[in-house]
Formats: sequence, C-alpha cells, structure tokens
Amino acid sequence: MLVSNSPPNREQKLFALGVVAVLLGAMLLVAPFARNRLEGSEPMVLAYTAAVFTTEMITAALLLSLFAVQRSPAILVLAIAYLYSGFMAVPWALSFPTVVASLGLAEAGQQTTASIAAMRRIGCPLFLLAYAMLRRSGEVPAGRMVPAMIVGSVAAVAVVVAGVTWTILGNQDLLPVFVDEGRRITHVWMYVPIVALALYAVLIVLLGLFGRSVLDLCLLVVICALTIDLVLLSFVSAGLQFSVGWWAGRLYSLAAASVVLIVLLAEAASLSARLARSAAAERRAHEDRMVTLQAFSAAVAHEINQPLASMVTNADAGLRWLARERPDVEEARAALTRIARDGHRAGKVVEGIRTTFSKRDEDRGQLNINQLIRDVLDCYRDECRAAHVVMQTELDPDLPLVSGNRVQIEQIIANLVTNAIDAMRTVTDGERVLRVTSTAMSAGEVVVSVADSGIGLPPAHADRLFQPFFTTKPNGLGVGLTVSRLILEAHGGRLWASDNAPAGAIFHFALPCAARPAPFAEERAR
Ligand code: ADP
Repeated sequence: MLVSNSPPNREQKLFALGVVAVLLGAMLLVAPFARNRLEGSEPMVLAYTAAVFTTEMITAALLLSLFAVQRSPAILVLAIAYLYSGFMAVPWALSFPTVVASLGLAEAGQQTTASIAAMRRIGCPLFLLAYAMLRRSGEVPAGRMVPAMIVGSVAAVAVVVAGVTWTILGNQDLLPVFVDEGRRITHVWMYVPIVALALYAVLIVLLGLFGRSVLDLCLLVVICALTIDLVLLSFVSAGLQFSVGWWAGRLYSLAAASVVLIVLLAEAASLSARLARSAAAERRAHEDRMVTLQAFSAAVAHEINQPLASMVTNADAGLRWLARERPDVEEARAALTRIARDGHRAGKVVEGIRTTFSKRDEDRGQLNINQLIRDVLDCYRDECRAAHVVMQTELDPDLPLVSGNRVQIEQIIANLVTNAIDAMRTVTDGERVLRVTSTAMSAGEVVVSVADSGIGLPPAHADRLFQPFFTTKPNGLGVGLTVSRLILEAHGGRLWASDNAPAGAIFHFALPCAARPAPFAEERAR
C-alpha cells in the first residue's frame, strides 16, 4: 500500500482540510498589508528559487522512483509536472533585473519574467490535468522501457524548458505586455490567472470528487495553496512585485512544492521502518525454526539412544552366552530376539519423528487409547519393579476412539511414563505410585493423565517445562515434552501439567475424539 494507491483515512482528510483552512486564514491575515513593498528584497528571489528548485527536483526524483516500482503513467506525468515547474523556476529567477545585472540572462527584457511565469503557471496545471486523467490507465510493461521512459522524460522536459526560454528571449518584441514601465501588471496578465484558476477549479473538482489516493488528497492541498498564491499575486497585491502579498504568494508556492515531498519522505520513512520490522520478524521466525530443528535432531538422538543402548546390552549378553564353555543357545536366541525387537522399535521411532508434523491421513488411524496405554505400560513393567514403583491404571471403558498416529501417541505416553518414573527415583519417603487414567470428556475429547508421587514441579519450572532443552536431569536432553506438545498440537490436542496431591506431578494430554468405540473393539482390547 503506497500513497499513490492507498485511500486516505478520515484523519488524513480532516488534516488536509485543516491545512487548507490555515492557508486561507493566513491569506486573510496578510491581505491588509499585501500591497506594502518590501524594499531591497529582490536578491531574495535567488534563495527562494533555490529552495523551490531543490524541493521540486527531490519530489520529482522520488516520484520517478515510485514510477519505476508502480509503472503507472500518471505518476510519470506528475514527476514531469514537478520537473517542468522546477526547471522553469531557473530562467524565471535569472530574468529579474538585479539578478540579470550580476549573473542573469543578459537578453532578458521587461516582459521576460512575466512571460516565463505565465508559461509555468499554465503548464503545471495542464500536467496535473494529464495526471488526473491517466490515474486509471494500466501499468507500463516492466522491462527496459521503464528506465528509458524516465531518462527520456527528464531530457524532454529539459529540452522543452530550454526551448521555451530561448523562444521567449529571442522574441522580446512579440511578447504580450504583461507588465508596464513601473513593473505593474496590465490587464493582459489577467488572462493568465483566469486561465490558471479555471484549470485549478477543474482539478479541484476532479481530485475532490474522484480522487482515490492519499497522493490525490495531497495534490488537492497543493492546488489550494497554488490557488491562494495566484489570488494573492494577481488580485490581493495587484501584481506588485516584492510586496508583502507577492512574497506571501512565494511562500505559498514553496509550501505547495513541499507538500508532496513531505508525504513521500514520510512514506519512505514508514516503509523502511516496516521493512526493518518485517526483517526482524522474519529473523525471529527463522530462529524459532532453527530451535525446532535442533529440538528434532536432539529428539532423534534421545529416542534412538534407548533402543540402541538396550541392543548393545543384549548383544553383549548374547556374546557372553555363546562364549561359555557350553554355549547357551536358548539364552543367546532370546538376546537376539530382544535385539531385533529393539531394532524395530528404533525404526518405528524414526518413522514417528519423520511424520511428527505430517498431517497426511494415511499416517493416521483410529486409535484405542486404553490399548495404547496398556501396551506402553507393559514395556515399563520391569523398569517399575526395579525402581520400586507401583503401577496403577483407571481406564474409562467407554473411551471413544481418537484419530492419530499410533507410534507418535505411544511415544508421548512412553515419554510421560519415563519422566514420572525418573521423578520418583529420588523420593525416599512414602510410596512411589505411577497412576495412569483415561477419561472421556463431554467436549468430545479424550484426556489421559499420568500422575506420580515424585519430586513435583517447582513453580519456577512451570513456564519452562515445555521449552526445548529444558532439563533438570544429568543426562536429560529436555526435548521429550517439547516434541510431545508439538505432536499433540499437530493432532489438534493439548498437553499440560499440574501438581499432584499430596506430592508429585500430573501430566495431562487431550485428543479430539474420532468416533464412539464399537463395544466389540473395546471388549477385544480388554
Ligand atoms: P528430559 O526428560 O530429557 O529432561 P523432558 O522434556 O521430557 O526432557 O522433561 C523436561 C523436564 O521437565 C525434566 O528434566 C524435569 O525437570 C521436568 N519434568 C518432566 N516430567 C516431570 C515429572 N513427572 N515430575 C517432575 N518434573 C518433571
């Protein structure tokens, strides 16, 4: 959204109205003194021209770069209007008698300044009219044409301005008598403001009624400022050069030249701020992605490590059975069977991690969560016995099925059970109880809770539990809960923790139901 294509909001419209009101008010303040001559102010013309020239050249440059992006012919014509006005200001300033005497155009005559002013006054609104007409025309095709049009336009305007100046200077006798001997305007000059004001009126109607963009609103303010300038110059100060009214008109003209520049510069500043903000957001998103990626790599290591360690232990045991004087083939076969089981488990884990974010339907099935809990707990029976942990379950027999990836959900339950057992290892007083419950919630969810009577969750850890790499275990990686939460979120579920009474923690996860379980399926699962 650029100033040239975004519609103005209410505040911007009110602001523009306020600016026009201030300009009108200032004109009324100046009016009583408009015809007082400011003696010796003529050399100031050069300073004024330098300011107008610089402002209009910068505005034109910004508009040309806008044209390079948007390729709208209307913007190009607007840039041409500013170039024309800026270039024409140079011979205009150089034709003033005092300036001529020092460094100006030696050929300049009595009518030169007014004639150049007339060409500038009429030429600018004609370009603005072309802008208003071209606003809805299509884009210029991208390619080499755009820079060629920019260079061509600047060159053409320079040639036209040089040609107009040369014609005026070379035909002094033929010029209309705009000013008399006392450098006062004549009735012939009055055609200039009348034509210019008529063009301004058309522009005000066109941009006021059909203007759509912030740029159109700015141009409306510019035209109002130019209108006041012309009224001050030609009527209020009666064309008296270097009078208060005449200089006030110059200030209005300078203000008119600055309006679009200020808006374009403000836009450039806000665009670069937006760019910096979006670059920072992109950087943050990239960092987040990197953390997730690292969490995944760590998760692979974490999940694969357990079956690998078990495979090494079983391989060592198998070798020992075979190395005996009378090799115990049965035990060795049992060790190999366990190695094969662990190998499959590792393969499933890799497959599960690979599909963690996968939303492909073929990776998902209708899961009986109670069955999954039983399967996982079966694997942990020996570990619980070794850690003196009592295993309890309270599984809802009417639990609906959920849709999900079996390996991933098993991984989550296994991770919660491992954490619960770990949390109870250091507990010496009281019973070590691992209690897993499943409940069907009325909100169409299945909630599984894994409760322990372990060390519990210190409030300081509450916010960090699910952050990647947060761990309090000497050999922990701190990715189990992060990955579990990611998997659940990919399933449309949730994972959260709470305190257990009198001691310990409860980790809960919820998954949306798929359908009511067939009683037969549940029966079979039991
Ligand atoms: P890891 O098990 O590798 O540390 P997790 O992401 O699974 O990684 O767990 C992160 C941390 O959360 C653990 O180090 C521990 O401090 C805390 N935590 C997890 N489960 C429990 C629990 N049941 N009781 C107390 N603290 C827990």
